[in-house]
Amino acid sequence: MTDIFEKSKRTHYSNEIGPELAGQTVKITGWVHEIRDLGGIVFVLIRDKNGITQLTAPSKKLSEEMMADVRAARKETIITLTGTVQESAKAPNGVEIIPSNIDVINVSKLPLPLDPTEKVDAEMDTRLDARFMDIRKHDVSAIFKIKNEILHTARNYFYDHDFTEINTPKLVASATEGGTELFPITYFEKEAFLGQSPQLYKQMMMATGLDSVFEIGQIFRAEEHDTLRHLNEALSMDAEMSFRSHDDMMDLLEDLIQNILANVQANCQSELEDLNHELDIPKEAFPKVTYDEVVDIVNSHDVEMEYGEDLNRAAEKVLGDTMGSYYFITEWPTAIKPFYVMPLCDNPEKSTAFDLMYRDLELSSGSQRIHSYDLLLEQFEKKDLNPDSFTKYLQAFQYGMPPHSGWGVGVDRLTMVITGAKNIRETVLFPRDRRRLTP
Ligand code: ATP
Ligand code: MG
Repeated sequence: MTDIFEKSKRTHYSNEIGPELAGQTVKITGWVHEIRDLGGIVFVLIRDKNGITQLTAPSKKLSEEMMADVRAARKETIITLTGTVQESAKAPNGVEIIPSNIDVINVSKLPLPLDPTEKVDAEMDTRLDARFMDIRKHDVSAIFKIKNEILHTARNYFYDHDFTEINTPKLVASATEGGTELFPITYFEKEAFLGQSPQLYKQMMMATGLDSVFEIGQIFRAEEHDTLRHLNEALSMDAEMSFRSHDDMMDLLEDLIQNILANVQANCQSELEDLNHELDIPKEAFPKVTYDEVVDIVNSHDVEMEYGEDLNRAAEKVLGDTMGSYYFITEWPTAIKPFYVMPLCDNPEKSTAFDLMYRDLELSSGSQRIHSYDLLLEQFEKKDLNPDSFTKYLQAFQYGMPPHSGWGVGVDRLTMVITGAKNIRETVLFPRDRRRLTP
């Protein structure tokens, strides 16, 4: 018996077969995308990860057995086709393949849980329930190929800038910053939580002398909201640097985003085409707007926002319309940012905290962090937090903690912006939200 891997071994992916191969024999393997039987001629479209190729079977030119094999094709069954390439202006990539052999590799059950031929737009729930099949659609897999390019570029960028990649625990004993809801879990005889952010750990890493660290990992937030931009499990990309200011970290973030956009533009053309999406690449430096200016802008558009409040949804919307694509909000009031954020030295009511926004969507929060033990204790008191739950964190500040700054970027939200996805669920393989824990 022929080995199944030998049998299904392709010579080309769909995108590698063009008119220049006319007359040559090729072997492709993929899923049966569509079958059109016109009687005297049968067309079968075969899909692989890079495209679609057309099998053309004219009954006049082929044996009865071959026609029977072609007609036996079923949607989403995996087949291997060997045949001769022929030019055909109307077919995908300008070629069709006249079959000389067809092997069925694995048969698909029918009916299908959803139709991957992209003609019917299924409900999000139906799509997520059969996500493996949903991702067979090229305009869905394109999102994950672009997310991969984003992560690949980011990792290379960090390595090129002398960062060390770290992996901090996701099982934690207490809250990072208070405020955000946590998922409690049972940890043997104790209560524990799923980590909402690597914040405290990446700061403790500053006391190790490693200077620059980054982490790409999951964060868990037990927030009840049901929006197009929140999930209960999200991917966070965190960077922290010693001896660098919040301004330095804004520059780094901007440069990283520009690198990501340039690489997606250069390496993901066909994915952007599949998505019918044009990249928004800013030509100028990302503008900066202070929190006070934000309050004025928002109020001048008849949306209420009190000084000292976080941006509500309506405020984010008018601000996004005013500011356009990427911009930073700076000088946030110290009172509404977490305890570890460094206040401005000449005006401690204001802080070094910044958010990177894309229109009405928050992509990242960052700041200079407090490195003074005494100042941290003061902040705990002001924020009504108990220092006893932070003993091990605080210890790292008593033996030579460098001044440091950092940020965290929501990778799923960044992927939304870069792919044009309107719902964050589009950018996560198996999203976790208020109502979904499977698949
Ligand atoms: P928001 O105000 O939009 O809820 P946040 O200020 O609570 O966000 P941060 O704690 O600042 O979020 O987290 C840093 C980044 O992580 C955010 O800017 C965002 O990109 C991403 N992020 C935070 N929470 C979520 C979530 N629930 N789902 C997806 N991404 C998130
Ligand atoms: Mg934030």
